[in-house]
Amino acid sequence: MSNVHDVVILGGGTTGLSAGMYSVRAGLNTLLIEQSGFGGQILNADIIENFPGFPQGIAGPDLVMAIQEQASNFGLEYAFGQVQALNVQKQPMILQTESDEILARSIIICVGGERNRLGVPGEEEFEGRGVSNCATCDGYFFADQEVLVVGGGDSAIDEGLYLTQICSKVTVIHRRNQLRASRVLQERAFQNSKMDFRYDSVVESIDGRDAVSSIRLRNLKTDQSEEIAAAGIFIYAGYHPNTRPFQGTIPMDDGGHIKVDLNMATEIPGVFAAGDCRWHSARQLATGAGDGVTAALSAYTFLERPDQSA
Ligand code: NAP
Repeated sequence: MSNVHDVVILGGGTTGLSAGMYSVRAGLNTLLIEQSGFGGQILNADIIENFPGFPQGIAGPDLVMAIQEQASNFGLEYAFGQVQALNVQKQPMILQTESDEILARSIIICVGGERNRLGVPGEEEFEGRGVSNCATCDGYFFADQEVLVVGGGDSAIDEGLYLTQICSKVTVIHRRNQLRASRVLQERAFQNSKMDFRYDSVVESIDGRDAVSSIRLRNLKTDQSEEIAAAGIFIYAGYHPNTRPFQGTIPMDDGGHIKVDLNMATEIPGVFAAGDCRWHSARQLATGAGDGVTAALSAYTFLERPDQSA
């Protein structure tokens, strides 16, 4: 059957592109399906300092373009669409998009994750009018103004540090009294005179008229609420995997992370998962790329050397 792809990869972030590059280099007829734009989460990264090979760091979009060019040079094919369901019970497997059925002998799921919402009043209402989760996209709108950053992880501190270059003050709101971010980022943040920290605090509401003008915080220790003036609030409260369309089809943990073994293989023969959407992922760019490579090599073994497939 000529329209059956050896490998179909879902997701065009670093993980999917890395899987694609290895898959086509292994001589497999490979299609990568992306639903919006290539790059995934790192498109928003102003500078990536921890991807091996870039001692001066590299901007997220530049890294994506380089990996995509590399994969295209080897012949990776692309399609845009949203895969809404999988039928993995028989060969070839079927991927159902809005408008098409795509046939595949193996599938690599690299769909990453999406940022969590706080679920507080004003969050949705003021999206794009003071509520953001992309400092590099929106920071400019808050030049010389005070902003808040919610979360204590790497994203919050990294993006908060970026905002200090533009804004007059950046206050980090964290629900515990200790940041989760890596030590190097924490030290940089503590030394930055424009950064302030409110610990043991959560956002109760985001308020304003046409745009955000204040945020109501609650201190979890004292149970006291207070309103603080801010023109913008950047939310980095973790993420959840984009695996909902595959629930009930592909085994997952309670958090929606796809269960895989060390070969990135799921329990379903020929179906692999890699990167942030799989369980126990380190959720780093480099580990995502490594996962993608592992999954592509496993798909090759499954297709071409089934006797060696675990
Ligand atoms: P994360 O590490 O999961 O951190 C999420 C933060 O949000 C945590 O501090 C968490 O608090 C807080 N949080 C979660 N739900 C909340 C809620 N409902 N209300 C208030 N706060 C809430 O997520 P991330 O910072 O986006 O990082 C994701 C991954 O990308 C990590 O592996 C990270 O290392 C990586 N990353 C790396 C870099 C870099 O190396 N430069 C940059 C960005 C991201 P608790 O701490 O209390 O759980």
